Amino acid sequence: MLLKLLFSLALLALFACAPLPPIGPASDIPTTLPEQPRDEQPARPVEQDTAKRHVINVGIGFERNLAAIECPEKKWEFKAKSNLGITDIETKGNCKYGEKTYRGNWAVLSTDSGLAIINILPIEDYLRGVVPHEIGRLKQDGFEALKAQAVAARTYAYSHLNSRRSQGFDVFADVRDQVYDGINGEDSLASEAILATSGLVIKHNGNLIEAYYHSTCGGRTESSEIWGQEGKPYLTPVSDSADGKAFCELSRYMKWEENYSRQELVSLFQRNAMDARIDKTFPFNKVEQILITERFPGGRVKRLVVFTDKGSFEAFGDRTRRLFAREGRLLPGSFFSISQDRDSFTVTGSGFGHGIGMCQMGARARSTAGQKFDEILKAYYTDVDIEEY
Ligand SMILES: [Zn+2]
Repeated sequence: MLLKLLFSLALLALFACAPLPPIGPASDIPTTLPEQPRDEQPARPVEQDTAKRHVINVGIGFERNLAAIECPEKKWEFKAKSNLGITDIETKGNCKYGEKTYRGNWAVLSTDSGLAIINILPIEDYLRGVVPHEIGRLKQDGFEALKAQAVAARTYAYSHLNSRRSQGFDVFADVRDQVYDGINGEDSLASEAILATSGLVIKHNGNLIEAYYHSTCGGRTESSEIWGQEGKPYLTPVSDSADGKAFCELSRYMKWEENYSRQELVSLFQRNAMDARIDKTFPFNKVEQILITERFPGGRVKRLVVFTDKGSFEAFGDRTRRLFAREGRLLPGSFFSISQDRDSFTVTGSGFGHGIGMCQMGARARSTAGQKFDEILKAYYTDVDIEEY
């Protein structure tokens, strides 16, 4: 109880000096419009000496007006901007918030900007609502891939405890961290995989790793340098192929192509300039040429130069995906090349996602081919151990 009180006080203290930003659209629960996809967001540095904790605080919603949590014992109702502070809810059952039902306890933080809804539960229960969404609902031949995903997601969870401290919880329930759907998102085979790997995490030199994963690597994973970070020894580019065939070759993103007219690129580049963080902006009327001048060790685009009728500008790394975004859709990945003819440009690429760490489509194929979960993880994370946390 004392611990809980201390935790509440700590939250309040943080809260006082850091106003709670909205988690997402006020009326949309859980949030569906991520500010920044996990793809793009390296985690904060991990405090390796953080005391052992097995409970996670998940920020699942934000309300500007009213919030209701319906538990078996009582229906809790909150009005924004009243009773400022934190309300803890302990329950013996599962509670409903929005359209979904969740395991665990709750905290509701009320501040001047609204209500933050936090679901508090053991990490092993949290994973049940995460794993099926992150890798899909798989059949028995995908069981080892589910186990690998469970270990990666558990490692991510432990290494991100406190990472959203200023917002009053540990992780978001959307793509800014791992998508968590509560009980509605659970799947019995995935739950079995979580139980079968209970407590196991991935470590490098005795420390939890940043267990990034993505949909499809396209044949080769990438170094974490792609995010402008120092490369990590366990996130090095590896080949995801055997006998000349990529494990993820059945992914529909194994090969992709996007075509643009020259005129379309003029408007897209000007519109996406900020989001793609290009090095300089100026008005121009024509895209003359696009060159990829540098690549990361795994082959993804590091530096791209666009020559226009008024001068040139550059875009870098994974952000180049945003330069070509159309109707909110980024390029699937940054493992691409560009060709051009008189009227148009064609971007041809492989893979989906940032390309760092475990390739989920590859993990599924490896599982089907008979590899065990630790073998799968060690194929994607270099020089690591799978251990009890
Ligand atoms: Zn792959």
